[in-house]
Parts: sequence; structure tokens; C-alpha cells
Amino acid sequence: MKAVILLGPPGSGKGTVAEDLKESVHFEHVSTGDMLRSAVKAESPVGLEAKSYMEKGELVPDEVIIKLIEDLLRAGSGDAKYMFDGFPRTVRQAEMLDASLAGYGSRVSAAFLLEVPREVLVRRICGRRICRQCGAVYNIHTKRPAVDGVCDQCGSTDIYQRPDDNEETLNNRLDVYEQQTASLIEFYDRAGVLVRVPAEDRLETEEKILEVFHTV
Ligand code: AMP
Repeated sequence: MKAVILLGPPGSGKGTVAEDLKESVHFEHVSTGDMLRSAVKAESPVGLEAKSYMEKGELVPDEVIIKLIEDLLRAGSGDAKYMFDGFPRTVRQAEMLDASLAGYGSRVSAAFLLEVPREVLVRRICGRRICRQCGAVYNIHTKRPAVDGVCDQCGSTDIYQRPDDNEETLNNRLDVYEQQTASLIEFYDRAGVLVRVPAEDRLETEEKILEVFHTV
């Protein structure tokens, strides 16, 4: 089993990078945010528990996330490769991941920290729009679909804004990141696997990540 982590604040491009690279690197993209949004939509027990935290931009309790990830790892094969996006978010989650990987004789190969100035994050997140049908991501400032309101990839006209992508919730999510997730930088730095990536330009970001991927 192999695991790499994409670390960075909301809007730093973790999801986009994972989607762009997953086929060439043959790592599965695992987004706990996407898993939780599906659970909320399905109104499953996890979804019902997670919903109110997500709406406020707060972290869902570690127990819920840990169970999601343990189920995922258990269901996968021993030689599975995962690229985690939005997980871990706390040191406790990171310790749990280490313990699970140790059970497979493995450890985190690399933790990429995507670094983007806060004002760029706000512009990216508040402008973000997503196709409900296929998940394609657009931006009203930088990446509009060819025909307004119509998804380039699947033709759906159901393009929406995530309810937590408004400025007020975003500010809370960025504060939560500073307070709870930034301590992971030190955690992975100490483990010797932290790779800092300036992440304002998408192609440069992906190039740098790919260089390191070839060594893991
Ligand atoms: P994201 O799509 O990664 O921005 O996540 C959206 C929201 O889902 C976050 O604001 C949290 O409420 C929740 N969430 C996603 N991943 C985690 C995690 N690993 N730990 C706790 N909460 C999470």
C-alpha cells in the first residue's frame, strides 16, 4: 500500500491537482470532502452527523473521518495507492493513518504542501462553480465553461456553488485550517516527507509534484 498526501488550505488546488494527475501516477484520488458530500446527499448516518459541521466550515469529528478511512483501506487491496486530498486534517487523523499504514508495512511517502497567498484563495473559492452531474470544476474569474452555464465535459446545465464556498464560511474554514491543520506541516516535516510546492500556477505545481512522484 502506498499513500501520498496533498496538504494545503481550502482553494489551494488539492482536488484539481489530484484529478489531473491520478491517471498518470496511478494513485486513487481520495477526497474526504467528496465522501462527506455524497453522504450528506444520501442522508446516511455519517451524512446526517457531518452536515451541520460542514455548513459552518468546521471540522467533522475525528471519529467519523477515521471510520471512513479505515473502511476504505480495509476494502482496498494490499497494493493499493492512495492520494489523499483534505485528509488528514488533524494530528490525530495523521497518527491514525500512520498506524493503519504500519499494519500494511507502509508509511506516508510524501506530503505535498500547496502554498498559496490568502487573497488568491478567497478569489478562487468564492468564484468556484461545480457541475453537479460530473464534478467538473469551473471558476467565474478564470475558467468559465465554453458556453455559459453548460458543463464542457458532460453538457449538464446543473452547475452550482458549494454552500460552504461563500466568503463568511470560507473565512472560518481558513481560520480552522490555520488553527487545526497547519500543525500537520510540522508533523510531516519531522517525519522527513514534507515537500513545499508554490501553488499559484497550476501547471508549475503539477510539474513539481510529478518530479517527486517519480521517486516515491
Ligand atoms: P473540503 O472539500 O476538503 O474542503 O471539505 C469540506 C468540509 O468537509 C470541511 O470544511 C469539513 O467540514 C469537512 N471535512 C472534509 N475532510 C475532513 C477531514 N479530514 N476532517 C474533518 N472534516 C473534514
